[in-house]
Amino acid sequence: MMELDNFIFDLIAKERDRQLKDLELIASENYVSPQVMQVTGSVLTNKYAEGYPGRRYYAGCEVVDQVEQAAIDRIKKVFKASYANVQPHSGSQANAAVLSACLKPGDKILGFDLVQGGHLTHGASVNFSGKLYKTSFYGVDKETGFLNYDRIQEIALQERPNLIIAGATAYSRDINYQRFRVIADSVGALLLADIAHPAGLIAKGLLSDPIPHCHVVTSTTHKTLRGPRGGIILMGADFENPFGLRDNKGNIRMMSSLLDASVFPGNQGGPLMHIIAAKAVAFGEILTAEYDSYIKQVQKNAKAFEKALRSRNFDMVSGGTDNHLLLIDLSSWSISGREAELVLNNAGITLNKNMIPFDTKSALQTSGIRVGTPAITTRGLLEKDMETIVDLMGDALRSKDDANKLQRIKEKVSNWMLEYPLY
Ligand code: PLP
Repeated sequence: MMELDNFIFDLIAKERDRQLKDLELIASENYVSPQVMQVTGSVLTNKYAEGYPGRRYYAGCEVVDQVEQAAIDRIKKVFKASYANVQPHSGSQANAAVLSACLKPGDKILGFDLVQGGHLTHGASVNFSGKLYKTSFYGVDKETGFLNYDRIQEIALQERPNLIIAGATAYSRDINYQRFRVIADSVGALLLADIAHPAGLIAKGLLSDPIPHCHVVTSTTHKTLRGPRGGIILMGADFENPFGLRDNKGNIRMMSSLLDASVFPGNQGGPLMHIIAAKAVAFGEILTAEYDSYIKQVQKNAKAFEKALRSRNFDMVSGGTDNHLLLIDLSSWSISGREAELVLNNAGITLNKNMIPFDTKSALQTSGIRVGTPAITTRGLLEKDMETIVDLMGDALRSKDDANKLQRIKEKVSNWMLEYPLY
């Protein structure tokens, strides 16, 4: 027997303690259920299974075939989709697979600007999406902080992209996918919705559904969907390849087979079967009434958070939220997002600095912070608790130079969080 790696196990124990005691406001994080956690550490991690259920490049896949098929069937049911690929290792891998299935290098994409709320994979110059494709961007309206669809239409007509991406990392409002489809159709572009953030709310009808309107939909599985880290690709009705896209041999094929081939062997090798099993478990959980009330509470908590912020003089981009997150503009607090992130972290409140639209500060400093309710709702916090959180945040920011005060807030936070045990 090999000796236990105490170095790493001790670090895991420390991280577990941090997760138990801190107030987790990072909008993209969540806590998986004990059974999802157990499955991510299962023997399935030992299995190679290149290919897809029933057509693998390895022997011994009878069991993992059933696991992957269950994940596919369940997520199709969750989103009323006609196609699902559950193999992408992450949200970025899902987007890479879709872009390389649908585009040739040098083709044009139109995405939500990273500095206004979009994701790296939507065309940022430091990312493969900005290196392989010609990019143009849309953003939010300066006055309102909302997407301005007339302006997006103008940009699309001007740029004539081959593919448009609707979706964001730091946008607190619902997205009009129907309007995006009209824009895409007007220039003959494919429409990809990246619902990594609000997927859980969409699954339960709390936000507009992209499935009927978008050619392809991608998501992560670890944010509001509350599964293991990973990605998925979905399709609604357009799986017959409306644009006559071809495979690398020049043959026109169904969209579903182009997407499958783009994930494996196009962008990935062996799928992570332990993660796919954990996805299957999480997708099963999403189909329960318990998840229904969970995700409704996520949205209710975000609304209560908005109210508490407004009454305590915090400004918010777009004035509030429709989903699970809020982008707080700290311009009037004379503190940068970076400093606020550090101060709040010292007070046991974890969140991330974030640029606000038309930010005058750099991405490393920022004028904003982003908060979200998926994780604290899993812990069991309710609307009334949002006021306490905003009071704690305000207290900490006002005491930013008082280490003792920040330590006292941290103790208060951890005593509070220990009332909501994890695992
Ligand atoms: N797409 C969006 C909109 C995201 O917010 C994220 C992650 O934050 C991703 C894609 C990428 O996910 P991952 O970190 O799993 O690559």
